[in-house]
Amino acid sequence: SPFEYAPAPESRGVVDLAPSYGLFIDGEFTESSDATRGGGTGGGLRKTVNPATEEVLAEYTQAGDEDVDRAVRAARKAFSTWSALPGAERAKYLFRIARIIQERSRELAVLETLDNGKPIRETRDTDLPLVAAHFFYYAGWADKLAHAGHGPDPRPLGVAGQVIPWNFPLLMLAWKIAPALATGNTVVLKPAETTPLSALFFADICRQAGLPRGVVNIVTGDGATGAALVAHPGVDKVAFTGSTGVGKAIARQVAGTDKKVTLELGGKGANIVFDDAPVDQAVEGIVNGIFFNQGQVCCAGSRLLVQESVHDEVLDALKRRLATLRVGDPLDKNTDLGAINSAEQLARITALAETGEAEGAERWSPDCVLPSAGYWFAPTLFTNVTQAHTVARDEIFGPVLSVLTFRTPDEAVAKANNTPYGLSAGIWTEKGSRILAVASKLRAGVVWANTFNKFDPTSPFGGYKESGYGREGGRHGLEAYLDV
Ligand code: NAD
Repeated sequence: SPFEYAPAPESRGVVDLAPSYGLFIDGEFTESSDATRGGGTGGGLRKTVNPATEEVLAEYTQAGDEDVDRAVRAARKAFSTWSALPGAERAKYLFRIARIIQERSRELAVLETLDNGKPIRETRDTDLPLVAAHFFYYAGWADKLAHAGHGPDPRPLGVAGQVIPWNFPLLMLAWKIAPALATGNTVVLKPAETTPLSALFFADICRQAGLPRGVVNIVTGDGATGAALVAHPGVDKVAFTGSTGVGKAIARQVAGTDKKVTLELGGKGANIVFDDAPVDQAVEGIVNGIFFNQGQVCCAGSRLLVQESVHDEVLDALKRRLATLRVGDPLDKNTDLGAINSAEQLARITALAETGEAEGAERWSPDCVLPSAGYWFAPTLFTNVTQAHTVARDEIFGPVLSVLTFRTPDEAVAKANNTPYGLSAGIWTEKGSRILAVASKLRAGVVWANTFNKFDPTSPFGGYKESGYGREGGRHGLEAYLDV
């Protein structure tokens, strides 16, 4: 089949890419039915590029309304048998998928880095281990749902329509698919338009694991495909991760239907450094908080709130550390910052940084030579930032840190909460009592203390305010897929 992985030069010997990919529906890679029949909204081929080089990696299929319908019907058909399986049987499939992910993690890490632009060190050491961990964790729940806090007889919802972004393509897929399957739901998932490849590879893993047909379906395409999936009357549950704007549009779209919905949206996390924090450790946390995945992280610590008395000391140490970051080839194991995911995202980051300068904030970047091809943005600091500045308010979703100061813990809390978002925050201090006091006042779904951007499948993740509703991960993550 032209949709199977076959050796190609782009693979660099680790992952084999076919020239083009179909849709994964009812256990098979297929062409678009819109294309076969002519007309319809789908059927065209889109290109996905390596953002570090702008080379085309492969073509993939734009799914149209008919394709989405076919996928939802396949998921519906599979639901009756999948949901009736004993939990221990569903667990076996999930454990199998988890083990295959581990076995094929080298291929997956390279593929994710090629399609997304993030450093191989991150895909290898963070994304892939977490992806496998999510499948192992939810496999463990599949036969224990009566203890999930839902009463003795929790029921799956039916067909889940899942739409995910490009910043953690495989990890967002795992957050969505693992709990849905463990609880007996079936899935139609739409990956983001710039990063479809690891989801298609995952489809291959489902086949390898012998997962029954139709339990997982992958429809690739743009926002129109996502909108068709959300609107489909056969979808019982919508799970969306992406921008707040699209999240609000989806909330409006499903209002007045019987669909359940969870939304994981944007953020503008505050990383609060008190004067008693160990500076070197805090600097590592600040760097990890905003430069991990080039800052394209919903829970990034994109606002640094530093206590006035240590502002200069922290900023000096931070600048020294930023001068050591290596920006470049994402496949190089020594690279700290890779490429920005797309030309559009680069343009957005560039425009917001220009606004920062125009509004009078002070811009600083270390000396670094960026590659000529591809989409690149140097690590950037804005100082002399006030709460009125756009760079302190808007989600930039790039390697740009806005630095503000505070004098008292109350002022830190007030500034941290002064945002429509509420996804993440960090606290750096030696005082345990202060951690507890401040954390309890922060309106954010996750608060890290003396660390940042740490994830674990046992821990619920999700937003307050405009960062969305519902939780993924942990026992709470099961709730989104169960009825009592
Ligand atoms: P996006 O909202 O543009 O796209 C996300 C997905 O939605 C894509 O697959 C896209 O094709 C699809 N889509 C677009 N329009 C749609 C519509 N009308 N109906 C249905 N689907 C539609 O977001 P993005 O640029 O891909 O991702 C970046 C955003 O995601 C950031 O705001 C980031 O904070 C957020 N994010 C949040 C989390 C979280 O857990 N809270 C995690 C990762 C990313």
